[in-house]
Amino acid sequence: MTRSLKILFAVAEASPLVKVGGLADVAGSLPWVLRQQGHDVRIIMPHYPAVDKAIPELTHLLDGLAIPMMGQHRPVSVSVVASNGVPTYLVANDHYFQRARVYGEPDDLERFLFFSRALLRAVDRLDWQPDIIHCHDWHTAAAIAMLKTDPELRSLFSRCATVFTIHNLAYQGWFDDHFVSVAGIGSFLPRVEPHLRNQLYSMMALGIYYADVVSTVSPTYAREILTSQYGEKLETVLGLRREDLYGIVNGIDVEEFNPATDHRIPFNYDKDNPDRKYENKAALQRQFGLPEDPGIPVLGMVGRLATQKGIDILVSALPAFLQQHEAQFILLGTGEPNYVRMLAHIATGYQDKMSASFSFDAELAQFIYAGSDLFLMPSQFEPCGLGQLIAFRYGTIPVVRHTGGLVDTVEDVSPGLETGNGFVFQEYTAEALLKAMHRAVTVFKNRDAWRRLVVRAMSANHSWGTSAKEYEALYNRALEKVS
Ligand code: ADP
Repeated sequence: MTRSLKILFAVAEASPLVKVGGLADVAGSLPWVLRQQGHDVRIIMPHYPAVDKAIPELTHLLDGLAIPMMGQHRPVSVSVVASNGVPTYLVANDHYFQRARVYGEPDDLERFLFFSRALLRAVDRLDWQPDIIHCHDWHTAAAIAMLKTDPELRSLFSRCATVFTIHNLAYQGWFDDHFVSVAGIGSFLPRVEPHLRNQLYSMMALGIYYADVVSTVSPTYAREILTSQYGEKLETVLGLRREDLYGIVNGIDVEEFNPATDHRIPFNYDKDNPDRKYENKAALQRQFGLPEDPGIPVLGMVGRLATQKGIDILVSALPAFLQQHEAQFILLGTGEPNYVRMLAHIATGYQDKMSASFSFDAELAQFIYAGSDLFLMPSQFEPCGLGQLIAFRYGTIPVVRHTGGLVDTVEDVSPGLETGNGFVFQEYTAEALLKAMHRAVTVFKNRDAWRRLVVRAMSANHSWGTSAKEYEALYNRALEKVS
């Protein structure tokens, strides 16, 4: 029996309280699994208005904390809620967090620097002291730097180890000398590392530099980010931490994403009775105004409309694909206005084959996972990707590029069609994507092979079990470093 640990997840979003992307899925599922393994895991996050909509019942814990920020003292109060069985501390400050959006505000750097500072002060006042503070992405990276460099915090948290997880290296929280001086954070910028002083600084680099151990969300991405192609200019500082850098593939909440019980889809089904999936397909085709026909393959996509997700090669490949094939494409996504415009334009030209909803809608997302035959993820890079894992669970076969976590989770369907769980392409080009889509809809016509493929995809286990054990080992490694 391993020792029971007290672990604090410091994070900007966590399902079901607030979700922007995959980070919320991870923070909303891994803590619960670790709790099942005997650890006392809790979450600390900002108190956004969305939280009150999700859970109106809060227990007030602390008031009257005054956190210095940009020459002022800002008031902070802390409440706690049980979110899916995980105690979750909410750090409130009206000025920074009473906003409709989690990210994308002009003062994001200031907001999350404030949160990083506030969370350490809040934890110090709680009657629960963590063994591990596990920070996620750039939003909470500065907390690690403060904890390791501020003499007072160092002594307060002297036995607390820090773990930093990179969910997406592309979002780093860049800042410049001006921000350093107005925010008064010069004390924790590494002085001797010229690669961190390359005109701009990044919050992400601070987490990487100071954490006891660093991880990212798949073994392949852990290797990729050491290269200049994927390193987003942090490959040097990552190289310094190479010995302490681990890749642990994400799991999903198999209770939440369960086609047998999911109340967000019209017809429940499982791998022993996959045919009801096709009732969802018919309903989906109807809802999106497309011809209702089980013989036409439906390709679904749910995701951010950002270059990372391969939208540029998708908009190049789609018109030719829709021209050549009796197939349908259903899209749910929000993101860059330019991509929205281009995709809307293609949909207008192929009204009987393509339909798009440019919104964020968790319920509709599940309907698309359940009702589609194929799920597109032509990502330029992908730290882990959750879409393909959710798709497997719903018997929907992913078409993915060979990158990052997609390498670790999707195996190309073999020429004999007896092994593999998806359609994988290598080159980041519209032609390669088009070929993979062509291959997928061709295999779709082979009804027996397709059925076996669907059952194979649904039978695989993508729960957190193995990965949660790897996190446990990671926490123990971090603790060894501070003992
Ligand atoms: P990301 O890089 O955005 O974190 P992931 O694949 O890791 O990508 O996770 C994305 C998560 O967000 C998935 O659960 C996906 O279903 C969900 N999602 C993305 N876009 C939307 C949307 N427009 N509506 C509903 N859910 C969405």
